[in-house]
Amino acid sequence: MAPGIVGEFMALKEEAGADLLAMQLGDFYEFFGEDARLVGEELDLKVSQKGSGGETYDMAGVPVDDLGPYVTALVERGYRVAIADQHDDGDDVRRELTRVVTPGTLLSPDDDDARYLAAVAADDDGYGLAFCEVTTGRFRATAVSGADATARALTELYRFAPVELLPGPDVRGDDDLLAALRERLDARLTLHETDAFAPGRAEHTLRERFGDAVDAVDLERAGAVAAAGAVVDYVAETGVGAVASVTRLGTYAADEGVAVDATTRRNLELTETMTGGGRSLVETIDHTETSAGGRLLREWLTRPLRRHGELRRRQSAVAALADDAVVREGLRETLADAFDLERVASRAVSGSAGAEALLRARETLSLLPELRGSVEGSDRLSGSPVADLLAEPDGEAVAALREELSALSDDPPKTLHEGGLIERGYDEELDELVARHEAAVEWFDGLAEREKRRHGLTHVTVDRNRTDGYYVQVGKSETDAVPDDYEGIKTLKNAERYVFDELRERERELLRLEEERADREYEAFCRLRESVAEAADLLQSVGRALAEVDVACSLAAHAARHGWCRPELTDERVLDVEAGRHPVVEADVEFVPNDLYLDRERRFLLVTGPNMSGKSTYMRQAALITLLAQVGSFVPADAARVGLVDGVYTRVGALDELAEGRSTFMVEMQELSNILHSATEESLVVLDEVGRGTATYDGISIAWAATEYLHNEVGAFTLFATHYHELTTLADELPRVENVHVAAAEQDGDVTFLRTVEPGAADRSYGVHVAELAGVPGPVVDRARDVLDRLRSERAVEAKGAGGDEPVQTVFDLSSGEFRGGDGGNADADADADTDDDADGASVDPEVEAVLAELRAADLETTSPVELLSTVEEWQRRLEE
Ligand code: ADP
Repeated sequence: MAPGIVGEFMALKEEAGADLLAMQLGDFYEFFGEDARLVGEELDLKVSQKGSGGETYDMAGVPVDDLGPYVTALVERGYRVAIADQHDDGDDVRRELTRVVTPGTLLSPDDDDARYLAAVAADDDGYGLAFCEVTTGRFRATAVSGADATARALTELYRFAPVELLPGPDVRGDDDLLAALRERLDARLTLHETDAFAPGRAEHTLRERFGDAVDAVDLERAGAVAAAGAVVDYVAETGVGAVASVTRLGTYAADEGVAVDATTRRNLELTETMTGGGRSLVETIDHTETSAGGRLLREWLTRPLRRHGELRRRQSAVAALADDAVVREGLRETLADAFDLERVASRAVSGSAGAEALLRARETLSLLPELRGSVEGSDRLSGSPVADLLAEPDGEAVAALREELSALSDDPPKTLHEGGLIERGYDEELDELVARHEAAVEWFDGLAEREKRRHGLTHVTVDRNRTDGYYVQVGKSETDAVPDDYEGIKTLKNAERYVFDELRERERELLRLEEERADREYEAFCRLRESVAEAADLLQSVGRALAEVDVACSLAAHAARHGWCRPELTDERVLDVEAGRHPVVEADVEFVPNDLYLDRERRFLLVTGPNMSGKSTYMRQAALITLLAQVGSFVPADAARVGLVDGVYTRVGALDELAEGRSTFMVEMQELSNILHSATEESLVVLDEVGRGTATYDGISIAWAATEYLHNEVGAFTLFATHYHELTTLADELPRVENVHVAAAEQDGDVTFLRTVEPGAADRSYGVHVAELAGVPGPVVDRARDVLDRLRSERAVEAKGAGGDEPVQTVFDLSSGEFRGGDGGNADADADADTDDDADGASVDPEVEAVLAELRAADLETTSPVELLSTVEEWQRRLEE
């Protein structure tokens, strides 16, 4: 191999601007040099050293037909892979770039998850955003504005979690935005041509793609036009025909959504669990029958809504399906046969759909009338949103396409280039060819019998193989009797093979017909595929309708099975849950339901209780019930009234942070900061043990200040679980903060977790109580009680002395990162005093605090009584000092 090849490779790679290039050399696609080493490592491919003219280089190759999966694997790892195909025109062998496969334009991903390509462009008012999914043709654009436009743009990006992002030219210098994107999004950042974002060019691109439909959507903002135009431009440039599947441009208002960022998605285990074990919410409630349905359910769960109309529609569909179990189960059975029409549409458009895919599309289209029939037959469902969904796609167009596709053979061959793809009656010329081909085959089929009769032979067979073509084989014992025109071509042990002139001629004719027929069938197939591509819009709308019915059935089935209720949705600020449960935990254990009530006057619950009593579960269930309600689902409760929220924010201590070696405290503070910045009066905030990642003293102060800030400044509905019992006094000081605790009881020396949530704070000496139950020697327990009592009374006295009855107005200043007296006018010396080292009631000596912390942390299981005694002695000594 000449070094010229490597030169050619380098040039093409340069032209492609991709990370990797797969270049066709005959029957293989080859990677060279560094690409070869990288691909070898990533995909476990063999890398070999080739040399020529004193130069050596690495090379790794995959057979032409196997390239797809390799490219998919590389792209899913985040690489952009260019493909250069070889064109052979006789002597002239050229190689040309065919396409660049990128994370956002991958047409045949390994899984069913949505893979969005996004663009973000700045304009005078904020940002425009566009999101496109090439495998299904979904395409939406929006714009955000206002002082917090950056945060809102990020929220939108988190919601779609794109796999590839095109930042516009104005955004590329926006370090804050880019840093946040890198940190929180697992998207490949691609710098697409600046011009593609230019207003005139972007609009032109859109007009070219969508025609006058562009005027129907209101892309008012320059940023939205720029982002949408750039996305279309990019898809057109990188993908082979993929852009044609993007048939419709939709807009949406960014504030229709609910902010659920990646952290919260993880904390609430919406789509995956934090530990990898157990079950996520999706895994628990997903009973969808189709991959498109599963994908849609995931999308719904990660992108809840605040739009009453849409939510009511979904709720009514779920309610109707929950009520008619018989029809619902029938629909699900029918749906089980449905194929992913949205993806077939894209694949037809890009010319990559095979016969199997079109066949499945045909079968799926025929499900539509069946589903409509079942729904019409149910009193509960006819006239429901389920019926509307199924009525939406144009029935006549569906029937026409199905009819056309009936030309496809029911049992198509594996490849598109052999006969048998197309039924008779679709194409006259083809029918004629087929008839002639079949007659030719028949001649061969009858040949053996004819020859036997004609020449009085008994051991005659006719067959064909690669090297000899067709031949007549005659048994050894009869070779003397064969006619003169038989020409021997091979001698076997027991037989002789012959050909003769007519056989040769007939064979040539047969081969010619075979080829013509295959070509003609392939052409007919391409026409069919073309029709499907032209009907991409229709397929997408049927696909979406089926997916939505599937999701509604799934939600209804789960609700019916687990006794979920239809929540009442309201714009009032209220979250009123009767006998609520955790949707995932309830599936595994005998669950104790709990009520929850929050409204304008009672916005903030401090949740206390011993470890493992159920605090996190209670708080997460509140968040999950809210989210499920805003997906349009029923919720795990006897009754629920849910005021729609604009965001759910969580901060939960996570194991994985430790594993990642990140400073837990730093992460915790970043997340807290994000929540304090982003949450509004209409948000729901769940904080689990905030402040634990640092010394007790810092921790309490931060938790304290955050509580005040959320209460005074933000006003979000907040559930805050804490070990800092000191915080529970905040309920007396801040009007809208209440204490609740998860109850536990002691019975005959055993601690029983009651799992019921009750008003008021948990008994603070509970830890000492547990120590007693665990058999810690009496004197130690008694002494611990004394210490606690003393600390408590000291603190009470000091707190009165320092703060009086005035609410403490301590605010965590986000700009300076310090605490300060908050609320404008209140920031006087008095308030400042509170913000010093002793925000929490002013009196606690650091040494006392340290001893207390050690006492709390003492591991009674592993400490012997003797050790404990000496430890307690030491504590006493330190306290005396
Ligand atoms: P905490 O946050 O107080 O440490 P968790 O919320 O993690 O406690 O709950 C610990 C375990 O208790 C959960 O894994 C669950 O199995 C069980 N649990 C929690 N709440 C309930 C409940 N209401 N009914 C039944 N079991 C519960």
